[in-house]
Formats: sequence, C-alpha cells, structure tokens
Amino acid sequence: MRRVTLRGKKLTVIGLAWSLGLMNASGGCAHPGTPMHSSCRELPTLEECQAAAQTIAHDCLRQCVELQCSGVKINCQSEAIQKNCRENNNASEGLISLGYVIRFSNRPTSCNNPSTEINWCEEPAPRDCRAKAMAHELAHACGWSHGQGYGVPADDGKLSCE
Ligand SMILES: [Zn+2]
Repeated sequence: MRRVTLRGKKLTVIGLAWSLGLMNASGGCAHPGTPMHSSCRELPTLEECQAAAQTIAHDCLRQCVELQCSGVKINCQSEAIQKNCRENNNASEGLISLGYVIRFSNRPTSCNNPSTEINWCEEPAPRDCRAKAMAHELAHACGWSHGQGYGVPADDGKLSCE
C-alpha cells in the first residue's frame, strides 16, 4: 500500500503528491480506453477519470469534473511546470507531486465557472492513483477546497492506493 498525500502549497497552487512507490503500474503497454485530450503521458483514461468522479455526491461539482475529464487543458511540457512540481515535492516525507492547479484570475472558480487548465507533473503512478488524482485536481479547478467533502477523492489530502 502506498500513501498518497495531496496538499496545497499556496492559496492559488494546489498540488497532489504520492509517496515513492516500488513499482510503476503504468508499464509499457497500451491501456484500453480513451486517452485524455493531452500530450502528457502519465494520465488516466477519459473513462477512468469519469469513473473516479462518481464518488462526488454534489451534482454540480460532479458534472463539472466529468466535463473537465474531456475538456480540461492539461499542461506538462514546460520547464516552469516541472520546476514547480519539483518544488512541491516533500523529500522528507517521501512525497512526489503529481499535479497542481493554478487559478489564473481573481475571479472565484466554481462548478459553474471552473479553471480550464491544470498542470501535471508526469510522475509515474498507479492507474487508480492517477484517476483519483485527476478527479481531485479537477475538483479544485471546479472551485472545491480541501475539507469541503462532497465525496471528492482525498478530502483530507491523503489517500491510499492499493
Ligand atoms: Zn488538493
């Protein structure tokens, strides 16, 4: 069992991390399902993303995350993003950042007004971790914050991946 911690570094940057695992569950094989609309590699499929959103009990928030699974812009290529990812790592706790959300304006985000982009760190992680991490980050993009509940994966910032 690996322990995953999701945490925010600043008010406007919300990251997700998981502990250094022993394996990379992604393997080298093609995975069935629809790729998310991104050139980033270490992503869940569209179906995995949408399945991970089904735990969300708040209708507007769940629908927002489901839409984001197919519509969000996922950034990972730039050195600035990867630098932020490294800086979000917490080596003393053995945590590696998986992704984070930046809110690009002061306009509040909500399930009716989500951020349209997230940043992804391209760290290999088990598929269930990726899917939960994506649903978690997309919930942030839809205005959700830690501790608000609604069934978002890792409400308290920590989850375990089998
Ligand atoms: Zn978070």
